[in-house]
Amino acid sequence: MNAFEQLIERNVEYSEDFQHASLQIMPAFMTVVLTCADARVDPAHFLGLGPGEVVVLRNIGGRVNDSIIESVAILDTLAQKIGNGNRVNVAVVHHNDCGVSRFANPQLQQSLAHRINRDPSVIQEMVITDPNGSAAADAVLLESAPQIGPGVTATGYVYDVTTGTLEKANAVATVSA
Ligand SMILES: [Zn+2]
Repeated sequence: MNAFEQLIERNVEYSEDFQHASLQIMPAFMTVVLTCADARVDPAHFLGLGPGEVVVLRNIGGRVNDSIIESVAILDTLAQKIGNGNRVNVAVVHHNDCGVSRFANPQLQQSLAHRINRDPSVIQEMVITDPNGSAAADAVLLESAPQIGPGVTATGYVYDVTTGTLEKANAVATVSA
């Protein structure tokens, strides 16, 4: 049995006693959590989430980029349309020991840039060496995006993979390159 077949077995168990058929499209907390794809950094665990409570967006590093800005714009449009006019609030969660920090290494950066056919500077922008600074900066970047506009709040947080704690990012921290 391969790894995914083992996981499918868990789904069989999950669906046997399924009790979430009446959940609505918009999440109960009207919150979007953007965080890293890192398997250790799962909001369902560190925020104790149940089904339907928040929307989770994940990419490498939990970085705000055009794709994330579009996704938040879509969710906020939906929220205003079918979520009783409420706006979404966004938590940008970066973490220590992030895998993207490895790409500060020039050799690895060059190698990846070549592989995905991008300029090394694009890779450098993804690098997180100071999660406190990058989470705060990405929250500002998201909030100030013209596609987002006033009414949507974004706040940076840092998750510690060694202690399980989540803390608000310090907005005056230096932004990582
Ligand atoms: Zn990460």
